Parts: sequence; C-alpha cells; structure tokens
Amino acid sequence: TYIVKDECIKCKFMDCVEVCPVDCFYEGENMLVIHPDECIDCGVCEPECPVDAIVPDTEDDPDGKWLEINSKYAELWPVITVKKEPPDDREKYEDETGKFEKYFS
Ligand code: SF4
Repeated sequence: TYIVKDECIKCKFMDCVEVCPVDCFYEGENMLVIHPDECIDCGVCEPECPVDAIVPDTEDDPDGKWLEINSKYAELWPVITVKKEPPDDREKYEDETGKFEKYFS
C-alpha cells in the first residue's frame, strides 16, 4: 500500500484525490490519509504530491508508524474524492519538521 506522511500536515494540496481510481483518501482537519486495505498500489498518486508526502509503505516508514496512522484514521475520517482549496498559509509549514507532534489532527 501507499501511505501519506507528515509532509502533508498543514499543507493539503489534495491533488492526489483527483487521480485515485478507488477513492481511498480520507480527510482530517490538517492532513489526508490512505486506507491501506483499499489502496490497490497503482502508484499514480505518488508523483501528484508537490511535497512528496506519499510513499509506498515499504519505503521510509521503518517502524510502521505512518502505516498505523493511515490505517487508524482512514477508519475515522470521511472519504475525500474531490480536491478542495489548499490552506492559504500552507507555505509557512512547508519546511517545518516535527509537524505530527505539533499539529496532527
Ligand atoms: Fe489510490 Fe493508487 Fe494512490 Fe493507492 S496508490 S492511494 S490506489 S492512487
């Protein structure tokens, strides 16, 4: 499966939702997640993300933290299938680290 990581937090470009053939993105207040059981591993969303927040779960998630977050919140948040307006202040957060601890919701 593919997963969304902390680069998405407070950024939310949402270009990914337009290309997903199975509509498996779910929307929280500050980020999106992918439902790992619904993702068919097509990979088309990965290059759509301007901040490289989407990766295969086999890459860059050694302790499985992000896979767990994607699994958990995809069950709790509503599905999103149409791109909305990204937040106006997103550039402020682009290069920030530790966004999960500070802003995740
Ligand atoms: Fe959707 Fe394909 Fe991305 Fe999985 S890899 S979230 S199926 S676009």
